[in-house]
Amino acid sequence: MTKAKVAVYWAGSCGGCDIAILDIHEALLPLLDKVDFVFWPCVMDVKFSDVENMPDKYMDICFFNGAIRNSENRHMAELLRKKSKTLVAFGSCSAFGGIPALSNLFTKNGTFKRAYMESESTVNETGVWPGVKTEIGPYKLELPEIYDTVLKLSDVTDVDYIMPGCPPVPEQIKNVIGAVLEGNLPKKGETVGAGGKNLCEECPRVREEKKIKRFYRPQELEHIDHEKCLLDQGLLCLGPATRSGCGAQCPAANMGCRGCYGPLPGVKDQGLKFLSAIASVIDSKDEKEMEEIINTIVDPAGTFYRFTMADSLLKRKGGVKD
Ligand code: SF4
Ligand code: SF4
Repeated sequence: MTKAKVAVYWAGSCGGCDIAILDIHEALLPLLDKVDFVFWPCVMDVKFSDVENMPDKYMDICFFNGAIRNSENRHMAELLRKKSKTLVAFGSCSAFGGIPALSNLFTKNGTFKRAYMESESTVNETGVWPGVKTEIGPYKLELPEIYDTVLKLSDVTDVDYIMPGCPPVPEQIKNVIGAVLEGNLPKKGETVGAGGKNLCEECPRVREEKKIKRFYRPQELEHIDHEKCLLDQGLLCLGPATRSGCGAQCPAANMGCRGCYGPLPGVKDQGLKFLSAIASVIDSKDEKEMEEIINTIVDPAGTFYRFTMADSLLKRKGGVKD
């Protein structure tokens, strides 16, 4: 039996997506009879040249996780596209920019300044700053160029499927791998490994769409009702603006959904959709009170666009510069 040739790659991300694949646990074992992992840097010793030497379309499917943060990420995205029959944007960083794309709220120089000069744990008396090319004595070092704007995978190459989640939940990973092996993937461009409704529809909490006088962070409430909708209790939950598919696992743990499964089908901007959901539950008698209630939301941009900044209509603060 010919095994499916599979690649898994980690670009600008935390590595959680790679671990999520391992989290399917013993379901991995029977897979090994049907799948050959031909490139998976997280778990096997491979070199970029191994991919460069493969014939075009050699791999059946590549699960690409991580945002496009630098020139190396982009090079690998283009290379893996060329060498794979099917390319999946795996996880929210690859699909929408994810957490790394929150740096689009700042400039590259601003991010570098904070990270390499100002952070509380940084000692950098000589003001060393990462550069693309550095010469130390006879040695010449080259690093990938960090982009000013973090991009999603489909900004730099053609993507066949999007599989959201930070990370995708193991059950959905099993479903998608099963569909790959059975040749049962939907038509190109579809989202796989997720539902087609909003998260509230798979959340068992009772939602009455109550009006809210202020928003709370979980630690500010002495008691959180386990049966009632979190938003009804004033806790921010992006369920109304988030695609289903994870089993509403954050609300099950008394935490509001942070939106990692991305926008609903047909919605271009998840943050705007959530803004409209929030506007409909605010209980204010005038503009002043409305402002006071909105001011109880800590970090609105980071809350509304936690995973989808690179996929939003804004894309970045101040317009795209790259
Ligand atoms: Fe559940 Fe959150 Fe929707 Fe409320 S807003 S029903 S807690 S997903
Ligand atoms: Fe992601 Fe929301 Fe599901 Fe939590 S509840 S895993 S944030 S989609």
